[in-house]
Amino acid sequence: MRVTDEVDVVIVGAGASGIAAGRRLAGSGLHFLIAEAGTRVGGRALTVDAEGVRLDLGCGWLHSGDRNPWTRLAQDRGAVIDRTPSAWGRQFADLGFTPHEQEAAGAAFETFDRRLREAPPASDCAADALDPDCPWNAYIEALSGYINGVGLARLSVSDYLAYEAADTGVNWRLPDGYATLIASAAADLPIALDTAVTRIDRGGPRLHISTSRGDLSARAAIVAVPTSILARGDIAFAPALDDMLDAAARLPLGLANKLFLALDGSEDVPADCHLLGNPHRAETGSYYLRPFGRPLIEAFYGGVGAETLEDDAAARWPPLRSRN
Ligand SMILES: Cc1cc2nc3c(=O)[nH]c(=O)nc-3n(C[C@H](O)[C@H](O)[C@H](O)COP(=O)(O)OP(=O)(O)OC[C@H]3O[C@@H](n4cnc5c(N)ncnc54)[C@H](O)[C@@H]3O)c2cc1C
Repeated sequence: MRVTDEVDVVIVGAGASGIAAGRRLAGSGLHFLIAEAGTRVGGRALTVDAEGVRLDLGCGWLHSGDRNPWTRLAQDRGAVIDRTPSAWGRQFADLGFTPHEQEAAGAAFETFDRRLREAPPASDCAADALDPDCPWNAYIEALSGYINGVGLARLSVSDYLAYEAADTGVNWRLPDGYATLIASAAADLPIALDTAVTRIDRGGPRLHISTSRGDLSARAAIVAVPTSILARGDIAFAPALDDMLDAAARLPLGLANKLFLALDGSEDVPADCHLLGNPHRAETGSYYLRPFGRPLIEAFYGGVGAETLEDDAAARWPPLRSRN
C-alpha cells in the first residue's frame, strides 16, 4: 500500500510523544496521520511476553505518577497501577554495603545534590561539582547513570535541576507493561506503520512529506522522533532547519539498558527489594529483585555503566556496535 493522501497534520513517530500528540488532535476535527517507521507502536516503550510474564524492556516507571498524564490514561482504561513505593536506595540484606556505608554514601549524594542547587558550577557540567576528596564519587556517578542515563561529565546541571524541580518523587509501575498501555491509547488513532518519513519540504503553501511508502501533503507536521535521529539527518528538511538540528545535536540521548534474569529459589527473597551491585564502582548495575513478586531480577544499567557494558560487548562481538 502506498501512502498518498492530503491531511491537515502529519505526526512523525508513534512513540509515547507521537501517540500523545495524536490523542490531543483526535476529536479536534482535524484530519491527521501518524507515520511510524517501525512495525509497532511504542518506540522506546517495549513490553514483551516472556512465558506469560509481561516484561518492560524499555520504560517501566510512571515517574511523578501522581501527575503523570499516562496515569490518567491507565486509570481510564482500567489498567492496573502498582503504587508500591520503589525500593531504590535500600540494599537487600545490606549485602556488600553496610548500614554505615549506606548512610555515608546517601549523605555524600545529598551534599552533592545541594551543591548543584546552591552553588552550581559556572560550566553547567555536573562533574565539576564533585568534591575530589569525597570517597563516594563512584557511587554518585552510578546514581547519575540510573537517574539521568549519562555520566556526570555529560550532565547539564540546569537540565538536572529542571527535572528535579518537576519531579514529585512518586514512582508507580504498570504490571501489564508500559507499551501495552501506549498501544491501548493508540488503538483508535490513524497510524501508518512501516512508514519512515524521509523528507519534509516546507517550500510551498502546504508541506510536502516524503515517506518510504509514498508522499503526503499536509498543513503542518509534528515531529516526535528522538534528537539523535534529527541530528543524524534521517529526515531532510527543505529549506534546512539548521538551528533546530544544531540544537538537537547538542541534546544527545543518554543510554539505559535492562537485563532480566530468572531467579531460582526465589521464595528466599522478599518481593520488590533492591540491590546495588558494587557501591564503590561507577559502572555497577542496579538490581530490582522479584519485581511484582515475580521470580526475576530486573537489572538496570545507565550512563557510564551501560556504556562500559556495551563497549565490552562490542569489543567481543563487533556487530553489536550499533549504539546511537
Ligand atoms: C531501558 C530504558 C528504560 C527507561 N525507563 C523509563 C522509565 O521507567 N520511565 C520513563 O518515564 N522513561 C523511561 N525511559 C525513557 C522513555 O522510554 C522515553 O523517554 C520515551 O519512551 C520516549 O518516547 P518518544 O515518543 O519521545 O520517543 P521514542 O519512543 O523513541 O519514539 C520515537 C518513534 O519515532 C519513530 N521514528 C524514528 N524515525 C522516524 C522516521 N524517520 N519516520 C517515522 N517514524 C520515525 C521510532 O521508530 C519510534 O517509534 C527509559 C528508556 C529506556 C531505553
